[in-house]
Amino acid sequence: MNIQKADYLIIGGGPVGIQACRMLRMSKPEASVTVLRPEDFSVIYCAIPYVIEGLIEPAAIAKKDELITETGAQLLKIAASKVDFSAHLVTLSDGQQIEYGKLIIATGAVPFVPPVPGHDLKNIFTVKTAKDTDVIKAAAGRAAKVVVIGAGAIGIEQAQAMLALGIETHLIDMAAHPLSTMLDTEFGETIAEKLTASGIKWQGSAALQEFAGKDAVSEVILGNGSSIQLNAGKDFVIVSAGVKPELELFRGTDLEIVKDGIVVNDRMQTNVPDVYAAGDCVHFISAIDGQPLGGKLATNAVPMAKVAARNLLGKDATYKGFVNGAATCVGDLRVGGTGYTESFAKVRGFSTVCGFGQTTSRFPIMPGAKKVQVKLVAYARTGRLLGGQIIGPEAVAERIDVISLALQHKMHLSDLAELSYSAQPWQTFYPAANPIVMAAEDALKKM
Ligand SMILES: Cc1cc2nc3c(=O)[nH]c(=O)nc-3n(C[C@H](O)[C@H](O)[C@H](O)COP(=O)(O)OP(=O)(O)OC[C@H]3O[C@@H](n4cnc5c(N)ncnc54)[C@H](O)[C@@H]3O)c2cc1C
Repeated sequence: MNIQKADYLIIGGGPVGIQACRMLRMSKPEASVTVLRPEDFSVIYCAIPYVIEGLIEPAAIAKKDELITETGAQLLKIAASKVDFSAHLVTLSDGQQIEYGKLIIATGAVPFVPPVPGHDLKNIFTVKTAKDTDVIKAAAGRAAKVVVIGAGAIGIEQAQAMLALGIETHLIDMAAHPLSTMLDTEFGETIAEKLTASGIKWQGSAALQEFAGKDAVSEVILGNGSSIQLNAGKDFVIVSAGVKPELELFRGTDLEIVKDGIVVNDRMQTNVPDVYAAGDCVHFISAIDGQPLGGKLATNAVPMAKVAARNLLGKDATYKGFVNGAATCVGDLRVGGTGYTESFAKVRGFSTVCGFGQTTSRFPIMPGAKKVQVKLVAYARTGRLLGGQIIGPEAVAERIDVISLALQHKMHLSDLAELSYSAQPWQTFYPAANPIVMAAEDALKKM
């Protein structure tokens, strides 16, 4: 058989595959790059809820193949089925083989369904692909009731889409409040109230125990003793309880793998020569304390892909670890978090000091001015910043990014207390105060 060759072979065509491919081809046009991607098209996952809700057309979330092909790279719409690292050879599902110079593994992650009794019943869906989107959209057209399991950002966004479609929507989580990895109780309870006021039937401290039903799910049984009845075959469940790295291809190979993904160094090199990995398929550490931490976000995947590509291009780049800045919307409220929550910081062994700041989003005299609240979490012994949370009507993600930058640079509360900020009547509070600065000053007073 004719074996194809690629200087760089990338397995996976998500954010990592696209980013790495573009950097390699643009900086080294003489190099051949092949990207393997089994899907017909790559999807802007973050926008899936808005397709399901009908706010945007399904076609709008399909990324253009040209992102890869316009660089002169080859895109093969097929899965890799076997890897022989010692021969530098990847076999595709149709039996073709490609010999690589360097390999980038960018296989991402797949949604995880807790293996509770009944997990394989019909009408239990997860959300990631274009097919999932179609399936959920079609199911929503037949259902009167839906249960969303997991109140992280993805679960909340799905629940809001279901409610907007007029479906009775239940949202449950084992944690006491929604967004438990992003927010502590104070802000988390505000989110719970907001969800409930919107009409979503929210239940916290309600771990999934079992799905019951004959063929299709007819009951969701929870660990708190309650259960939610469903009309079997019509109503459905969306599980958004996290993801697990897609690593099937590498079982039984020499690639070092742990539960959360492929082990890489800070240059995104695996233990296998000439093999790099980046994105949701890798296991990595926190930028805050250097300890292993989950970080399956596109905003982590893209910087990791850049580091891998820069090293493959002969530069010396390192990835410093996850900060995990993230944001979502709950009704008209914008919500964001970065770094460690107070409760997670304690789990990691930090004694904490926290500060709160509150202003309005615009000058209070301006139309539409609403409350913005900031919480900062710091290490009580030194004042080093560990995390931040913000809820407000606008500009939340941008403010979270300020805190993320401070975390990346290992700053202290005193640095944020000295933040040089801007002020303008439509965009901020008066020059006299900034909510991040207020929160830093509040925490400093408690030290
Ligand atoms: C509904 C949803 C909403 C999200 N919202 C956000 C958000 O708002 N912000 C944010 O930062 N992140 C968000 N994320 C997470 C984000 O999408 C992921 O972190 C990101 O896509 C990871 O990129 P990746 O390239 O590592 O993997 P993926 O995007 O998962 O891409 C992996 C690719 O590898 C391919 N692949 C797997 N196995 C093989 C094989 N054997 N052969 C060939 N190809 C293979 C897959 O088919 C896929 O094309 C969201 C995710 C979902 C599902």
